[in-house]
Amino acid sequence: MKKKFWLFPLLACILMLTGCGKSLSDQSVLNNAKQANTIVWGVKGDVKLFGLIDVKDGQQKGFDVDMAKHITKHILGPQGKAEFVTTTSQSRIPLLKNGNVDAVIATMSITPERKKIISFSKSYFDAGQSLLVPKDSSIKSTKDLNGKTVIGVVGANSVDNIKKVAPRAKVIELQDYAQAMNALKSHQGDALTTDNGILFGLAVQNPGYEVRGGTFTVEPYGVAVNKGQTSFTEAVDKAVLEMQHNGEYNRLIKKWFGDVPGFKYKELYRR
Ligand code: GLU
Repeated sequence: MKKKFWLFPLLACILMLTGCGKSLSDQSVLNNAKQANTIVWGVKGDVKLFGLIDVKDGQQKGFDVDMAKHITKHILGPQGKAEFVTTTSQSRIPLLKNGNVDAVIATMSITPERKKIISFSKSYFDAGQSLLVPKDSSIKSTKDLNGKTVIGVVGANSVDNIKKVAPRAKVIELQDYAQAMNALKSHQGDALTTDNGILFGLAVQNPGYEVRGGTFTVEPYGVAVNKGQTSFTEAVDKAVLEMQHNGEYNRLIKKWFGDVPGFKYKELYRR
């Protein structure tokens, strides 16, 4: 029988044209999002002010969630849809790498370690790490943490940061911020540490607690995307820049942080 060698190049062409055989990381997230008219975002579900599930309607709400909605409209047009998947600090990178979400916008700091495995947009928010303590606590800053127990969250860089800043403190890690706050309230630790914005959100929900000691790290938040998705990253950067120029960005800052006692929200304004 005559072998049909010409079939192989033809098959290869069909595979290339249909995109079959491409690995997840080779596919254009931007093109797929345009085709589906949807961007799937990983957001927090238990972080007031940034991404919190409202028990009344089951929707995630917060600054990050609103940023995602606005960025989506800038990229896909007014009919573009933003879909949300709830993530924790620990699950956000696996969700992204497995293709369960197109992007993560979830109080996520741009760090050199993370940049080895994923990419980031330019920073869209400036946070810094701080401490949350009961109002009657003697802890005023990280200097008072010797021999104390500090609570952090798995997957947050805050845990490594506090170990460096207060090496003689004991650090325990909980799964998410709801559990971390419960641990603080049940006296399993003396302080909770993470970014100031998250802690101010917890202080609003728990009036017996306050944010202390200023910030002792710089935490620039970025939108996380998979490596190689350059056109998508550029589209996100362009969208954020447009939001900063047309005032949408500052309106969201005021909406979410304008009424938070003690939070200097005007320092976050960008033009
Ligand atoms: N921004 C820090 C981080 O990316 C802490 C906040 C969080 O756990 O999401 O790890």
